[in-house]
Amino acid sequence: MRLAFLGTGSAFSCERYNGAIVVEGRLLLDAGAPLLPHMHRLGIDPGAIEAVFLTHFHGDHVLGLPPFLFYRSVFRSGPLAMVGPPGVEERVEALCRLAWGEDWSGAAFLRYQEAEAEGEVVGVPYQAVRLDHGRMDCRGYRLRIGDEVLAYAGDTIASPPLDELVEGADVAVTEATSPEDSDVHTSWEEAAALAARHPRTRFIFNHVFQGNLPGAAEDLAVMEVRGLR
Ligand SMILES: [Zn+2]
Repeated sequence: MRLAFLGTGSAFSCERYNGAIVVEGRLLLDAGAPLLPHMHRLGIDPGAIEAVFLTHFHGDHVLGLPPFLFYRSVFRSGPLAMVGPPGVEERVEALCRLAWGEDWSGAAFLRYQEAEAEGEVVGVPYQAVRLDHGRMDCRGYRLRIGDEVLAYAGDTIASPPLDELVEGADVAVTEATSPEDSDVHTSWEEAAALAARHPRTRFIFNHVFQGNLPGAAEDLAVMEVRGLR
């Protein structure tokens, strides 16, 4: 599967852009980075994105949406599925109204879908797992990409639901915010321990605050990855 990392940083990172990943040129996982210029740099057509999966509504995961969605509303390029935790339509519409006022023409091209435990969107079967991220309702996703499973965590502590999310996945993108312990994030040590518990899964870390973490993706990296089996 082809993964393009538009951003790999945590909320307060001064070194990295906030997170967003394009999968196979047609799925967008979270939306923190400046989406349009970073897609352009990597040769990704913003009009080719068919579905967005939002893990949660913290700003570093959604604030790239207003320009991207306004672009899609002006340069009409077909429907766009928007999957997220409960309330996704209200949150995204409120964000766009805040950003664009009366110029935001509404969601005619958007197909909102609150994440189900098991579902399918734009032909991609997925499972959603509720993760522990403080008071914020956060969902990790398991996406069937061809004959492989991609697990994507968003933000979470290293608690049992995270193990459930990555169990048996071929590729897992999980957060590793900082060497420090945290009540809401996974530390570098916990990320390494998670990978050690799932040796048949290929791990790529993101949501890094600062510094060089082995196994972490870099901003604007494009990877063709397969699992380890
Ligand atoms: Zn968060």
